[in-house]
Amino acid sequence: MKTRSGGHDFEGLSYTSYTNQPFVIVDIFNLRSIHIGMEHETAWVQSSATLGELYYRIADKSNTHAFPAGICPTVGVGGHFSGGGYGGGGVSFGVVLSYKIKLVRVPPVVTVVNIKRVKNLSYIAHRWLQVADKLYDKLFLRMMFRVVNNGERTIQAEFPSLYLGNSTNLVTLFKKDFPELGLEKSEFIEMSWIESVLYDGSFPIGTPTTALLNRKPQYLIPLKIKSDYVKTLISQQNFELIFEKMKELENQQLHFNPYGGQMSEISEFSKPFPHRSGNTAKVQYVVIWEELGVEAEIRYLNFTRVMYDYMTPFVSKNPREAFLNYRDLDIGVNSHGKNACAEGMVYGHKYFRKSNYKRLTMVKSRVDPENFFRNEQSIPPCSSNDESLFVAHSVI
Ligand SMILES: Cc1cc2nc3c(=O)[nH]c(=O)nc-3n(C[C@H](O)[C@H](O)[C@H](O)COP(=O)(O)OP(=O)(O)OC[C@H]3O[C@@H](n4cnc5c(N)ncnc54)[C@H](O)[C@@H]3O)c2cc1C
Repeated sequence: MKTRSGGHDFEGLSYTSYTNQPFVIVDIFNLRSIHIGMEHETAWVQSSATLGELYYRIADKSNTHAFPAGICPTVGVGGHFSGGGYGGGGVSFGVVLSYKIKLVRVPPVVTVVNIKRVKNLSYIAHRWLQVADKLYDKLFLRMMFRVVNNGERTIQAEFPSLYLGNSTNLVTLFKKDFPELGLEKSEFIEMSWIESVLYDGSFPIGTPTTALLNRKPQYLIPLKIKSDYVKTLISQQNFELIFEKMKELENQQLHFNPYGGQMSEISEFSKPFPHRSGNTAKVQYVVIWEELGVEAEIRYLNFTRVMYDYMTPFVSKNPREAFLNYRDLDIGVNSHGKNACAEGMVYGHKYFRKSNYKRLTMVKSRVDPENFFRNEQSIPPCSSNDESLFVAHSVI
């Protein structure tokens, strides 16, 4: 059985199967009501509501409340929340019909920053890794690299950012703690939080907020996503090598999201999502292509796999961690046969780390011992016969 909310699984696991087994789809697209309860600053949101619909309904009630979640407004709440830090990949345990969420307070004016750079990128990137997770809790400063082809392949960097406050202090703060970026006041734009949601989603300034209610993505393109975590500093020289590799592979993008802040304050054992303190940034590998056909697909998939292999020395190890919401079947698939527990370890340790994976299999064994709720990367139930696997892994 496949459960679909927003249908944005990067490998399409809510509507396709890679195991050649027949399946039915439980598509809960009609369950998308949102009730905002301002008296308690909470909301009930049904799983098939999109993030855009949620953001719109919150802003409709208040311009000083928000909810921090993904950038793309057509992503569904059902898969997004259960993979992003609040659950353990809902699909392993049942069908989630709705969530109660706690709204956060935001100022009436926030600042977005639109920074593009083409020079000194290896130095800036190296410095970004030193500061981005520690700067200020009110600042979310991302870093993205793409290959641009103007006759010659070069790297372009963007630093899309959101600051929960007006721009008055921002220039001074940047000058003090991250002068390498060379920020100018003209690169800041003040707006309301809901306008920043549109801005981050690449809608032109002035787009009415009702655009967030459109459940159809702005564009449909083939892509492949992979993920990594950075825990140690990458030197300027190594960033130069990384950029050379990107140019060689074309179309490859690397997006760095800072961690730190509240992400680090929560214990890695208190929720299934384990990527907490000690992680400087999450890396997203993006490859997008326009050509149709299997040949192009194989070519671009290969590019991103080569890039991922190339990054091995610079990212987390034992396990090499990954982000569940950037679904990637390259890191392991479960056939749910007699070796399900061992097969689950391959991707489970990357998504949840060892301890949380083990605890999730224990929950699974209690609530769904027959493994009814499953997909190619769900949590399998483990039996007492599998105990030796966990011992062997802790020795390794
Ligand atoms: C264009 C695009 C932009 C994205 N942007 C971001 C971003 O900014 N930040 C980020 O963190 N992620 C982002 N993602 C990834 C996204 O968070 C995940 O793919 C998420 O799982 C999608 O949820 P969904 O409900 O839309 O997908 P679906 O395909 O419906 O579901 C994803 C998985 O969750 C399961 N599932 C869905 N609903 C339920 C339910 N109600 N109960 C139990 N299991 C369920 C499905 O079976 C499937 O395994 C993006 C993805 C895309 C395609």
